[in-house]
Amino acid sequence: MRLTVKLLNIAFFCAALPLFSSTGPDGELTKRTRYLMDTYCSVLAPVKGDMKTAAALDLALDRVEELDKKFSAFRPGGQVYEFNKNGTPITDPETLELVKRCLDMNVKSGGAFDITVTPLVRLWGFYGELPKKPKIPGKEEIAAAMKQIGPGSIELKDGRLIKLRASAEIDLGAGAKAYAVGEAMKSLKASGVKSAMVDLGGDLYAIGLYNGKAWKAGIKKPRGEGALGIIGMTDLSMSTSGDYERFYEIDGKRYCHIIDPVKGVPASELISVAIITPDATMANLLSTSVFVLGRDKGLKLIEKYPGTEAIIIRANGEITLTEGLKKLFSLKEKGGKK
Ligand code: ADP
Ligand code: MG
Repeated sequence: MRLTVKLLNIAFFCAALPLFSSTGPDGELTKRTRYLMDTYCSVLAPVKGDMKTAAALDLALDRVEELDKKFSAFRPGGQVYEFNKNGTPITDPETLELVKRCLDMNVKSGGAFDITVTPLVRLWGFYGELPKKPKIPGKEEIAAAMKQIGPGSIELKDGRLIKLRASAEIDLGAGAKAYAVGEAMKSLKASGVKSAMVDLGGDLYAIGLYNGKAWKAGIKKPRGEGALGIIGMTDLSMSTSGDYERFYEIDGKRYCHIIDPVKGVPASELISVAIITPDATMANLLSTSVFVLGRDKGLKLIEKYPGTEAIIIRANGEITLTEGLKKLFSLKEKGGKK
């Protein structure tokens, strides 16, 4: 069972952002922010003058910083970078665990999620600065890049990730951010923090209550006024995949940075997917997979994961909410205020 809201002819796209009122028994929120994983990472908590809680926010950001170095495909020194560039096997257990989850999702998503998608992302110009004069790659170029990809080009065995094809590369971009959000939250909990929100470029995780209520995340309409709706989050994470942050247009058609590895072209049925579940990494693996699969196949995939909810917005403006989300989500009227 799911709820479909038809809002045709409205150019929506959505992103998550934390919302909160600063007055109440818990007092003001303390916020620490650093630029990490190519975006801003903020940790927020009601500190109430407790120095230990304040220090816990910095510790959580240290953890994200550590993971940023570890998972980056672009920063020299990390194992992912060395694997891609020089073929050095990856042995770091934490990186291997994330790779394993990504490989599992490749199978579950029927190939829609693929960390070896790198040659296609590169061909379409989505690494580094976006092309000033983008052009659609030729059929032969796409076919050649598609031959380079696929999980068969790498092997995870005996505590090592190795290349089976010299040209293989991995891109953990669709899992790393949310994994880091989950780890930041673990770090906060280990420090004894009971109520907090982590926001890594719109991938969110909230624990506990703030002023006696669930934390609130707005699904915003960046092209319109106000929020599309608000989600109450307690011990839940939310990850979004959309076509609105990294994209270019050719002849009025939008091409975004999430590529369908089966077709070799940017996914285009959806403009935004938000997945809500307590498992932060799973939220991101699913949001990217669903973005590639489209609404109907995406919903089938989500159904395999009990306790996972979604908001799916199609390019034609249709919004689909999973049934369980109705309890957490309040839809705002068109142009509604926060
Ligand atoms: P967003 O950047 O909107 O948060 P995602 O979390 O879905 O989106 O991550 C997108 C990133 O994942 C891309 O920048 C690219 O590095 C990588 N990617 C692109 N297509 C795929 C795919 N089919 N499977 C796995 N990773 C992908
Ligand atoms: Mg994401």
